[in-house]
Formats: sequence, structure tokens, C-alpha cells
Amino acid sequence: MTFRALVLFDIDGTLVRRAGSHHRDSLVEGVRRVTGLASTTVGIPVQGMLDPDILTIMMRRAGASLRDIRQALPEVERAAERYYLRVCPEISEKKCPAAVPVLDRLTRRGLLLGLVTGNLTRIGWHKLRRAGLRHYFHFGAFGEMAATRGGLARLAIREARSRNWIARGAPISLVGDSPNDVIAAHGNHIRSIAVRTGITAPADLEAERPDFLLRTLRDLRLRMVEEG
Ligand SMILES: [Mg+2]
Repeated sequence: MTFRALVLFDIDGTLVRRAGSHHRDSLVEGVRRVTGLASTTVGIPVQGMLDPDILTIMMRRAGASLRDIRQALPEVERAAERYYLRVCPEISEKKCPAAVPVLDRLTRRGLLLGLVTGNLTRIGWHKLRRAGLRHYFHFGAFGEMAATRGGLARLAIREARSRNWIARGAPISLVGDSPNDVIAAHGNHIRSIAVRTGITAPADLEAERPDFLLRTLRDLRLRMVEEG
């Protein structure tokens, strides 16, 4: 099956927002269970960050050495995912405005939808499942898969091409709410669509010069993601 275009989505602040503290709690629990350290996400600008980077800062601030962190990180990530799967409630009320009609429209139009998110893999998929959005997405690149958001986008693009889901030259867009999403899109020479549904000040998004800056997903037009 070949799709006419690929649209990549960030999760937090783009598809789902104000979903509660369960994600943060799971990072804290993951660290505690594996290392015994008491840590916190308070004071870390988590928006637009990759989960492994957040975990690294949390453990660093709790006094762990970089060597110990590197060694513990994979196990901490698994523990955080397990905890999240247990505690995440139903969050279908936490979807961003117009997420469902927009994803419906893109899907009906025959576009391929994927994820590029800083969430750990199982947290990201589960969050979407609990929000009722899981079925729209074929694949994704998640927090632990690359060192930067740009690296994640590169992985997603490469996967879509190598599986022949999209032809070379097919339009590719990345939709996100943080400057890091815009930077990741530019770094991969794909279209950047920024939405103002996260906590980033509009001026800070504008400063990264996205191709489109939308108030909400409701303002997304097919031509933005379909035209080459
Ligand atoms: Mg986001």
C-alpha cells in the first residue's frame, strides 16, 4: 500500500493535553524502583523534551553519576513504562481541539499518519489508546530511539520509505506544539506545521519559522500536507 503523503504528529500539546500527572509520576516511579533515588520533574522544562533526557536530568539532580545513569537508564525506562500502563486512566476528554475530525479527514484522504514523540514507546502508544486515538497511527518514532527529535523524525521518514509506504518525493509534514518540533522538521527538510495548543508562547514558535502556524488542529488544511 502506498500513501500519497506522510503526516507525522507529536503527542503532548498536539494531540493530547492536560492529561494529568501520570506520565510525570511514571518517570519518578521508574527512577525510584530501579535506583532507589527520590527524584522529581519539578523545575525541568519537560515540554518538547525526550523522556530519556528528562530521566537523565532527574537522576543527575538526585545525585547519580553519568556513568550510573547510562547503565540504569534502559531499566528505568522499562519500569516507567510498566508503571504508566498500570496507572494511566481513560483520557478521552483530554484530546486537543479537533483532533478527531482532523485525523479522520487525513485518514479518509488516504494519507499515512505516524508519530514523532519524546514519549517512551509504550507510554506513547498507551496514552493514545487511552485517548481513543491509537487506531489512526501506523507507526512511530519514540523517545528512546534517537538522541534528538530530529533523529526521531529521520527514523520515521526512513521507515516509511523503506517499507514503500510513501514514494520518494511524497510530501512529508511534522505537526507539533514546541520549537523542538519545528527544528526537527527543518533539520529533515520536511514541512513544519506548528500548533499553538501547547504551552509555548506563540512568539517562540514563530521565531523558529514553521511553514504554518495554526491556532489549533482545526485550522489544518489538506493542501498544507498534500501539496509537494
Ligand atoms: Mg509536544
